[in-house]
Amino acid sequence: MQIIDGKALANQIKEELKLEVEHWVENGGKRPHLAAVLVGDDPASQAYVRNKVKSCEQVGFQSTLLKYEADMAEDDLLDIVKGLNENPEIDGYIVQLPLPKHIDENKILLAIDYRKDVDGFHPVNFGRMAQGLDSYLPATPMGILTMLDRYNIETSGKDVVVLGRSNIVGTPISILLSRKAKVGNATVTLTHSRTSDLEGHLKRADIIVAAIGIPLFVKKEMVKQGAVIIDVGINRVTSPDTKSGYKLVGDVDYDHVAPNCSHITPVPGGVGPMTVVSLLQNTMKAAKETIYNKP
Ligand code: NAD
Repeated sequence: MQIIDGKALANQIKEELKLEVEHWVENGGKRPHLAAVLVGDDPASQAYVRNKVKSCEQVGFQSTLLKYEADMAEDDLLDIVKGLNENPEIDGYIVQLPLPKHIDENKILLAIDYRKDVDGFHPVNFGRMAQGLDSYLPATPMGILTMLDRYNIETSGKDVVVLGRSNIVGTPISILLSRKAKVGNATVTLTHSRTSDLEGHLKRADIIVAAIGIPLFVKKEMVKQGAVIIDVGINRVTSPDTKSGYKLVGDVDYDHVAPNCSHITPVPGGVGPMTVVSLLQNTMKAAKETIYNKP
């Protein structure tokens, strides 16, 4: 069994990115600049955004964090988004989800200029991805592709079962893994809360991508010997063993599943760090205008 060390791989890619930034700036390029918008004080969102800003510093990007109170008006947030769309200093930006209930997330995501949408959530990027055109890929699925690629895990002809159909993980990773591409050409089954015989699907999977947000849902008896497990879930559970009184676990019962797998991602230290690094890679592309010309 091999652990897919997302943290180490993310650090390696950050080193590569740092060199790319230095080279780009030395040759007259503009230093990439990522902005993050955070509304409210959800602790998980705050931690994610802090991590993104810190990662920008590590690779030599500029970063701007825009923080607002949870009760801000939707129209005010739309104005902020418009300002970021028009600001030539900002190459790409993200609006950290989830947003407070009174703000329509879709309305905000649609207002982001797709040329600065480094999270890859805008329908233009999503549609281009689905058609196999160059686009900003959503960060978590992109991180998964990079892990599979760098660990030389064959996907062509394999049976992949994706658990969960969210717009940010399950649905895009199912599209990406079935595309005609280097990491792709798999036969993908997208499962969800209404799937009948979920266990039957999981048992025949060569590769499982779990993204449902239920702690330790995937058990040993649901997994075929030698399967590859990508655990996207990040669940906070109480724990007597830690000082804080809680710990993070994935959607997979790691301790019991791991011994029977060929590869598995841990939580934390698996998919999470790769998500952040993918965001940085998209921002680098935005600064270089690799996919789209600047607005
Ligand atoms: P979500 O929470 O929006 O949706 C959950 C999905 O799981 C739904 O499609 C639902 O149909 C499915 N589901 C729920 N119960 C099920 C069941 N019993 N059987 C089968 N399917 C079921 O999904 P999300 O936003 O993709 O998040 C999933 C998990 O991944 C969460 O723990 C989240 O924190 C984590 N996440 C991690 C990263 C990362 O960078 N590692 C990024 C995004 C999300």
